[in-house]
Amino acid sequence: MQNGQRRYAIVGNGFAGTTAAEQLRKQDASASIVMFTDEPYTLYNRIALPPLLRKQVAQAKVIIRDLAWHEKHAIDLHLSTKVEHIDFEEKVVYAGGTGYPYDALLIATGGRPNRCESPGAEGAHNVFNFQYMDDTLAISESLETAKSAVAVGGSFIAYELAEAFSARGVETHWLVRGPRFLRRMLDEIAGEMIDEAAREDNVHVHYEEELGSLVRSNGSVTKAITKSGKEIPADCVGVGLGLTMNTEIVAGTPIEVKTGIVCDDRLETNVKGIFAAGDIAEFYDPIADMNYRMGTWNNAGAHGKVVAINMAGGDMRYHDVPEYSSLLFSTQTITQFGISPEYRDDLEMVRKVDAEKKWYRALFFWKNRLVGGVLIGKGNRAGKRKFLEAIKAKTEFPPGEWESILDWTA
Ligand SMILES: Cc1cc2nc3c(=O)[nH]c(=O)nc-3n(C[C@H](O)[C@H](O)[C@H](O)COP(=O)(O)OP(=O)(O)OC[C@H]3O[C@@H](n4cnc5c(N)ncnc54)[C@H](O)[C@@H]3O)c2cc1C
Repeated sequence: MQNGQRRYAIVGNGFAGTTAAEQLRKQDASASIVMFTDEPYTLYNRIALPPLLRKQVAQAKVIIRDLAWHEKHAIDLHLSTKVEHIDFEEKVVYAGGTGYPYDALLIATGGRPNRCESPGAEGAHNVFNFQYMDDTLAISESLETAKSAVAVGGSFIAYELAEAFSARGVETHWLVRGPRFLRRMLDEIAGEMIDEAAREDNVHVHYEEELGSLVRSNGSVTKAITKSGKEIPADCVGVGLGLTMNTEIVAGTPIEVKTGIVCDDRLETNVKGIFAAGDIAEFYDPIADMNYRMGTWNNAGAHGKVVAINMAGGDMRYHDVPEYSSLLFSTQTITQFGISPEYRDDLEMVRKVDAEKKWYRALFFWKNRLVGGVLIGKGNRAGKRKFLEAIKAKTEFPPGEWESILDWTA
């Protein structure tokens, strides 16, 4: 605190960091707020990157906060400036050769995509990750001339790549290591419904297949060879092989790191005055009584609000039900809320399938409480609000009632 003015530093200007900055300004009109990003952009909507790649929205629409907004709110944003080091004893953030003292610090650094390590990928002009604005622009340019493209991985990102390749009229192959998409969250029946949607969009899904190597000519990939020996022409390769959390700036400090930066339900770490939010935060969820990370847009924004209130001296608990919705090619949609077997392996499931309507509903229970679910199918989301309310209220349901709860969406 200097002359009574509180100083806040934020590392990362994604949805979590920027929402926190906005909320901090609402909490405290005179505080100094400094925010850093190693990207050259003000906040952009990461979930609009797939529509940008499909050429359904313009780049300008994807940028949701401009420099004028930061000036208006007196948020001192440093673009293209990586935070290299934080002195947690002296409470100083070092970036671009300058030290910035703080009273409270937020780490909202998210994750970076794992690179393709198959032989032939390193340095190739047409092998891409899909996480940043710059990735999107580069893939988009490559698709202008591509005839055949390969998406690699069983993640949502790999799905988004496959969908965009096919929407851009390119022959699309999708390599999924497991027996189905999102194998830890979805069962076989759900996997079949998604497979049908992929086939309707002419996407060739290769299950139980991994990328073996890439054949190159003049620095560009021309062909993908799978581990089982299939050869697929490839003018563009997109990989969705998960994220590595950007935790390096707290390495060697007392701050606890597991799958992300561990924090409590106020989003404060084990070091007082240091907070984490968004994808990087392994936060405590009182509903599931466990810490986990949740990589969704809504979660990042909700964290940003709560964390700012606590950084400013408040005492707000994060008590929300994470949810995620996405298209599944041009004929299906998926909504996931709460937790799934991906998070806890001691959940019990009930499910219902309507083949005619192409609906799939699965609910997950833990200790007689509804804790999560997955809905596939357009128009299948009507009762979702009721599910979310029951999860949040920790309502108990005897097992005999579980099947009938599925009909809340009917
Ligand atoms: C293509 C794509 C599609 C998606 N679709 C959906 C969807 O449909 N629905 C949904 O809910 N979620 C979706 N997500 C996930 C969602 O976008 C993320 O969960 C959310 O944006 C995370 O926000 P964040 O602020 O925690 O982190 P990020 O947005 O990752 O921001 C972190 C920022 O910090 C920067 N940074 C890292 N280290 C440093 C450092 N040392 N110094 C300075 N800056 C640093 C990073 O470069 C980055 O700019 C999608 C993600 C992608 C990539």
